[in-house]
Amino acid sequence: MTTSTLADAEHIAISKSRGIQIDWKDGHHSDYGLQYLRDHCPCASCTGSHGTPPRPKSGENPFQMYEKKLKMDSVEPVGNYAIRIMWSDGHSTGIYSFDHLRKICPCAPCLSTT
Ligand SMILES: [Zn+2]
Ligand SMILES: [Zn+2]
Repeated sequence: MTTSTLADAEHIAISKSRGIQIDWKDGHHSDYGLQYLRDHCPCASCTGSHGTPPRPKSGENPFQMYEKKLKMDSVEPVGNYAIRIMWSDGHSTGIYSFDHLRKICPCAPCLSTT
C-alpha cells in the first residue's frame, strides 16, 4: 500500500466538551478525547524545545490540574492542513496538523503499530 498523502481528512466533527472525530480519506476513523489531545499538543512549550517530552508519567504528580474540567474554547482551521485549538486553560499555541493527528490516532490498530 503506497499512500503518500495518508493524512487527509475527509470529515471532522468537533465537540468542544468531548473532543474531535476525524474521518480520513482512506476510510480510517479517529476519535480523540479532550485530554488526549491536550496531552499530545505539538507546540514547542508542550513538547520541550530539546526534543524531550516533559510529560510526567501518570501517577508521578498527583497535584496536576487534571481535576479541572478541560474543554476547547474554540477550534479554527489553519490552511487546510491543520487545526488550532484554544483550550479552556488558556493554552492556544498548539497547531495540530492532520499529519500529527493521524500519527497520534488512539485507536487500537494504530497504537499497536507504533
Ligand atoms: Zn502546547
Ligand atoms: Zn487509528
